[in-house]
Amino acid sequence: MKDEVLSRRLVLRGALVLGCGVAFSGKAYAEAAKKMSQTSVQYQAKPKNERSCGNCTNFIAESKTCKLVDGSISPEGWCSLWAKKA
Ligand code: SF4
Repeated sequence: MKDEVLSRRLVLRGALVLGCGVAFSGKAYAEAAKKMSQTSVQYQAKPKNERSCGNCTNFIAESKTCKLVDGSISPEGWCSLWAKKA
């Protein structure tokens, strides 16, 4: 009887630890998937020299959005994360 109670406790503890681990990794993933704010990357609605969102590898033309920066993005815009499109 005592062994059975002990065993149940171990199973419950294991489930609790596993559940917390899954919840934490889900939260960590959501945080990592968050985009940066336009302000934090000095986004501007005009290009910087020949550098613009339109020729940046992170720009998604179909939706006028960016893989890294939050909100609507103009193809004429620019930010400090600009990376040349291959
Ligand atoms: S990373 Fe910056 S420059 Fe490139 S598309 Fe996104 S907002 Fe534009």
